[in-house]
Amino acid sequence: MEKQGILFVVSAPSGTGKTTLCRELTIKLPNLTHSVSYTTRSPRPDEVDGREYFFVNETRFREMVERNEFAEWAEVHGNLYGTHNGHLLDIMNRGEDILLDIDSQGAIQMKKRFKDGVFIYILPPSFEVLKSRLTDRGSESAEEIRKRLKKAKEEIWNYREYYYIVVNDDFKKALNDLKSIIIAERIKMKRMNLSWIEENFIKNKEA
Ligand code: ADP
Ligand code: 5GP
Repeated sequence: MEKQGILFVVSAPSGTGKTTLCRELTIKLPNLTHSVSYTTRSPRPDEVDGREYFFVNETRFREMVERNEFAEWAEVHGNLYGTHNGHLLDIMNRGEDILLDIDSQGAIQMKKRFKDGVFIYILPPSFEVLKSRLTDRGSESAEEIRKRLKKAKEEIWNYREYYYIVVNDDFKKALNDLKSIIIAERIKMKRMNLSWIEENFIKNKEA
């Protein structure tokens, strides 16, 4: 059987830089596919249906939940978000690694189902920096930013559920940390087909 792709799950408080980092990561690393989630939130001006998200209404989303189509789903900032099970398995069964950019409620659900998954938490360097990144991004109202900062304070405690912590202060360094994690996970002994070592070295008749 073909080697299964590795599941990478990345979470962070809103405004940390997760989307920007994940986008860059999939450009820089071959064989890493960014999973496109379903959401009931409205598209932002630069977002395209099927690229950033599949945008659906709540009725459609709830029907998909009923049909067990999601590997995980959660309500985040008043909207529903979910990872399509079929899409995820198709990618992993093709041997491609997959990157899920989801919140910690979703990450905790995935941790129970995918024991070999790699769970990464990204933190901003400080609460003040988080606030200014959210404000400067300019995609949410002042009230929405206040809600997101409140949620960040509550959810940061979930960092203990993850296997790696990356601090996104200097963007290049954070990107490099993420790349290093992925590269190291790919060459972990438990993930490799080691039969070629036997064939080449142990069973080799020379010397
Ligand atoms: P998230 O997906 O975590 O909500 P975004 O990727 O949208 O966050 O990033 C939030 C804002 O912070 C964006 O305007 C982005 O350009 C900016 N940003 C991301 N990383 C850094 C960084 N290391 N230094 C400064 N600004 C950053
Ligand atoms: P945004 O609306 O800013 O794109 O995302 C808001 C939050 O929802 C982010 O924390 C993002 O990681 C999370 N999110 C995006 N897709 C999913 C998903 O499929 N499942 C879960 N649980 N969270 C998601």
